[in-house]
Amino acid sequence: MGLFESRCGLSRLYRQEIIQSTMPTETIPRISKRTLDQLPVQGKKVLVRVDYNVPLSPEGKVTDDTRVRETLPTLEYLLNKGAAVILCAHLGRPKGKPVAQYSLKPAAACLESLIHKSIQMAPDCVGPAVQAIAKNLKPGQILLLENLRFHPEEEANDSAFAKSLASLADYFVQDAFGAVHRAHASTTGVPELLPSAAGLLLAKEIYFLSHAIQNPQRPFVAILGGAKVSDKIEVIESLIEKVDTLLVGGAMAYTFAKAQGISVGKSRVENDKIDLALSLLEKAKKRGIQFLLPIDRVIVQNVDPNAKAEITPSTTIPEGWEGVDIGPKTVQLFQKQLLNAKTIVWNGPMGIFEMPAFAKGTFAIAEFVAEATKKGATTIVGGGDSVAAVKQAGLGNQLSHVSTGGGASLEYLEGKDLPGIAALPNV
Ligand code: ADP
Ligand code: MG
Repeated sequence: MGLFESRCGLSRLYRQEIIQSTMPTETIPRISKRTLDQLPVQGKKVLVRVDYNVPLSPEGKVTDDTRVRETLPTLEYLLNKGAAVILCAHLGRPKGKPVAQYSLKPAAACLESLIHKSIQMAPDCVGPAVQAIAKNLKPGQILLLENLRFHPEEEANDSAFAKSLASLADYFVQDAFGAVHRAHASTTGVPELLPSAAGLLLAKEIYFLSHAIQNPQRPFVAILGGAKVSDKIEVIESLIEKVDTLLVGGAMAYTFAKAQGISVGKSRVENDKIDLALSLLEKAKKRGIQFLLPIDRVIVQNVDPNAKAEITPSTTIPEGWEGVDIGPKTVQLFQKQLLNAKTIVWNGPMGIFEMPAFAKGTFAIAEFVAEATKKGATTIVGGGDSVAAVKQAGLGNQLSHVSTGGGASLEYLEGKDLPGIAALPNV
C-alpha cells in the first residue's frame, strides 16, 4: 500500500477528529473579517479558493494530503448548509499553459477519498464548458476546477479572467492561506466581484497569527532559525518590537555570532548581512529584550549524514569545522525560556534536521513547545521546513496552531497586509 492509500485509509478517523475537535459552527473564530457563516449560502453556488498545491509522487499520487484534509471543515460546513461547492486552486508552476503534470486530478482523487463523495473534475477553470458544468451543479455537490495557473491571467490578476471565475458562483470563500500573500485573480480579483468571506481554515490562521501579533500574552518568546538571516530580516525586525525574548538557532545564528566577533569556522555565514545582524542586536538591546544565541553547537568537518559530529564546549567553532545543530547546553537554555512562555512563535529549524544526526536540537525544541502548549501557552509554528520538522517529531497536533502557509505566515508575522485577506470585507 502506498503512502497515499494508507493516509486516505485513515481519512474517516481524521475527518471525525477535524470536525469534532476544531471547528463546530459555534466556535468559528471571531476575526475582523467576514467569515463564511455570515453568507446565506443555502441553495447557492459558492466558489472556494483552496490551497491544493500538494506534493505528488512521480506516478502522480498525493504524497502528503495535509492541505486537502485542512479544507474539510469548510467544505463540510458549506455542504451541510445546502450549498453547491466549486473549488479553485493552483498546483506547481505551469507558467500559464496547460501542463498534464500539474493537473489537479490527483487532488480530486485525494479529496474524494477523504470526504467520501464523488468530486467532479472540470476540464478547465473558465470557458463555456466549465460554465455549463457549474450551472448544473446541485446543492451538496462538489466541482473542482482545473489548475488556475494554466492561464497567465490568474497571476496577472486579469479582470476579465476574474470575471469569468466569479460568474460561476453566487459567493466566494477564501480558504487558501498559502496563497493570500499574492495579489492574483483568485485572491484579490474575485472578492471584488462577489460577496466574499474567509473560510474556516483561513479564519483559524488569522485568529492565531493576529493573536500573536496584536495581543500576545506574556512572556512572548519567538524562536527563529533556518537557513538565512536575509530570508527573515523583516520578521526579526517586526518581532523585536513585540517579543520579550528571541531565541535564535539554525544557520542564521552564525551570522549573528560572527557579527559579535566569534569565530564560526566554515559555518554558513552571510558576510553581507553582518552589519545588519549587528544593528538587529543593537535594536534588541535598546528595547531591553533578551536576544539569546546558541552557547554550544554540534559541529562537523563535512556535512554528511554519517559525519563524525562533535560538540563545542563554547560558542567558538574551530577552523575547518561547521555548525549543524544547537548543542545540549543551548537546548537547556532555550527550554527554560519556552516552559515559562505564554505565547510562542516558531519559524526556522535549529539545525540541518533533514539529517537525523543533526535533528536533535530542532526536535527537542518541538518537544518543549508542545509541553508549553500543555501548560496553557498559545503556540504557533510557521514555515515549510519548521512545520515539516514538527510533524516529523510526531507533534503536529500538540501545538495550538501549525500554519499551512509558509510564505504567507512569514509575511503575516512581518506585519504586512496580505492582499488576499485585505480583499475580504471587514465585519
Ligand atoms: P522554514 O521553511 O521553516 O521557513 P528555512 O527555509 O528558513 O525554514 O530553513 C530551513 C533550512 O535551514 C533547512 O533545510 C535546514 O537544513 C537549514 N539549516 C538549519 N540549520 C542549518 C545549519 N546550521 N547549517 C546549514 N543549514 C541549516
Ligand atoms: Mg523553507
